[in-house]
Amino acid sequence: MTPALIEANRLMVVCNSCRYCEGICAVFPAMEMRRSFTAGDLRYFANLCHGCGACFDDCQFSPPHEFNVNAPKVMAEVRAESYAHYAWPRATGKLFERNGLVIALAAALGVTAFMVGFVAWTDPSVLFAAHTGPGAFYRLMPHNAMVLLFGAAFLYALLALAMGLRNFWRDGKGADAAAYAAAGHDAATLHYLDGGGAGCEDGDGTTRDRRRLFHHLTLYGFLLCLASTTTATIYHYALGLEAPYPWYDLPVILGTLGGIGLIVGPIGLLREKSKRAAATRVPGLAGMETAFIAMLFLTSLSGLALLALRETPAMGLLLAFHLGVVFALFLTLPYGKFVHGLYRYLALVRYAQERKSGH
Ligand code: SF4
Ligand code: SF4
Repeated sequence: MTPALIEANRLMVVCNSCRYCEGICAVFPAMEMRRSFTAGDLRYFANLCHGCGACFDDCQFSPPHEFNVNAPKVMAEVRAESYAHYAWPRATGKLFERNGLVIALAAALGVTAFMVGFVAWTDPSVLFAAHTGPGAFYRLMPHNAMVLLFGAAFLYALLALAMGLRNFWRDGKGADAAAYAAAGHDAATLHYLDGGGAGCEDGDGTTRDRRRLFHHLTLYGFLLCLASTTTATIYHYALGLEAPYPWYDLPVILGTLGGIGLIVGPIGLLREKSKRAAATRVPGLAGMETAFIAMLFLTSLSGLALLALRETPAMGLLLAFHLGVVFALFLTLPYGKFVHGLYRYLALVRYAQERKSGH
C-alpha cells in the first residue's frame, strides 16, 4: 500500500465509526457496507468522491483535531494514484507524474508538427495565404491524411481508455443493466456534485452550486463538439460535402454551441477550483487538475477563432494551432484528467449494484 492508501484506510476506519457524513455523498454509504478495505475498495471510494469538500467542513475531527481527518485531500491523492495504477500500457502511468508539463509539451509539439507539416506539404506561403470555398482546409493538409492521423490517434485513445476501464473493473464485481442505467442517470445529472444538497463549498464559508453548472457546460460542450465532428464526417463521406460549411449548417451550429460551452465551462471550473479551501488541496496535483481543462479551453477557443477568421490569411496558422491542440488532446485523453469521468461512471455503476444487492 502507498502512504496515501494507508492514510485513506485510516480515515475510513475513523469515518466508519463516526458515520456522521453518510447522507452527503456516495462514498460514505459505500464505506458502510464494509468492515475492512482493500486497496481496490479505497480506489473505488476515491473515484466516487468528487472533492466537494462538504465532509471536511462538517467534520468535528478535521485539523487541528488530532485525528486529522481530511477526506477530500486524501481521496484526491488516492484518485490521482488510481489513474496511474489503471493506465494502459502500465508504463504510461508515469505520464500522470508532472502531468501538466507532459500535456503542455504534447500540445506544443502538436502545434509545431502541424505548422512544419503544412509548409513541407506545399511551401511557407501556404500558412499566410487566404484560402476560401469548399476544400479550403485541404489546401494545407489533404483530407485523407487528416482522417488517417486523427483516426489513428482516436482509435489508440479508445483502446487505452478501454484497457484502463477493464483494469478498474477488475477490482470490482459484475453489474446488471439496471446498475449501468442508474449510474448513467447519476452521471448525466451530476447527481452527487452538490455537496449533499447545499452545494459545493466556496472557500469563504458559503456554498453555491456553480461547480455543477460549469461541469455541465464542459461535459455537454465536449459532447456537442464530438457530435459536430461526427456530423462533418457524415457530410464528407455520405453526402460528398466538403468543409468549411456555412454558419447555418449542422456541424457549425453544433460546434459553435459546444465551443461556447467549452469556453464558459472550463473558465468557470478553473475559477471555482481557485476558491477551494487551501487545506483540502493537493499542490502536486494542480498541473493535472488544470491541464485537461486548459486543453479543452484552447481547443474550443482556436476552433471558434478558426470559424470567425477562416476566410482571412490567419486561417493557416489557426488551423495548425487547432489541429495540433486537438491531436495532442486525443493522444493524452487516456493520460490526463479525462479518465476521471470514465472511472467515476464505473464507480457509480458499482455503487448502484452494491446498493441493490447490499454489497
Ligand atoms: S468525515 Fe468526519 S464527520 Fe464525516 S464521517 Fe468522517 S469522521 Fe465523521
Ligand atoms: S469531499 Fe465530498 S464527495 Fe468527497 S468524500 Fe467528502 S463529501 Fe464525499
